[in-house]
Amino acid sequence: MQCLLCNRHFNKRLTIKELLWPQPIEWPLICEHCRSGFTAIQGSTCPICCAPQATAMVCRECRYWQKRYPWKLRHTALYRYNEAMKDYMHRYKFNGDYRLRMIFTAAMTAAVATQSADVVVPIPVTEETMQKRGFNQVVGLLTGINLCHCLGTRVQHKLAQSSKNRHERLQTPQPFKLVEPAHLGGQRVLLVDDVYTTGRTIYHAAQLAYDAGAASVTSLSLAR
Ligand SMILES: [Zn+2]
Ligand SMILES: [Zn+2]
Repeated sequence: MQCLLCNRHFNKRLTIKELLWPQPIEWPLICEHCRSGFTAIQGSTCPICCAPQATAMVCRECRYWQKRYPWKLRHTALYRYNEAMKDYMHRYKFNGDYRLRMIFTAAMTAAVATQSADVVVPIPVTEETMQKRGFNQVVGLLTGINLCHCLGTRVQHKLAQSSKNRHERLQTPQPFKLVEPAHLGGQRVLLVDDVYTTGRTIYHAAQLAYDAGAASVTSLSLAR
């Protein structure tokens, strides 16, 4: 097998169960070394945004959002946004290597299944990004899931999010619009993004979902 990230050839050591069990073996897409660069979020986290921290108290960022929104979000993130994840995102999104989605599709799909949502809404990318990159990186991570594309982007902002500083990000005006609000009325909505950074993106999207009559809104990202 050849690792999708470092291109080195590697062997998978089969476990006793895999040798004896009459089920298809799951072949890994990346080598042990590359896999070990990603850190799953576990242990104590902020109960609202899933930020890894020493206590289980609501973090400062979430207290900031609580003052600005009348509802509470509950976010789940799978991995830390560490160097390996930043490098992965760069190659997947900015270099547009669509194969790399496969490294995390199983984990993201399983995470969506545990969320008991009625409607799964991916955070959209702008027309411009779509033309340049050719795909929405969030949709790429969610193969086999029935998605509701009821959020669209307004012209201007979402594209430059990664090049802004923290203060600029928090000030970003609503970058989304509702395309088919009727799909959200009375539903438990799950918003999915690739990375949760300041929460700005998710809170904008969640507000629109509540405006459309969503019963509840939770969110999920690959990294935090
Ligand atoms: Zn590797
Ligand atoms: Zn928090």
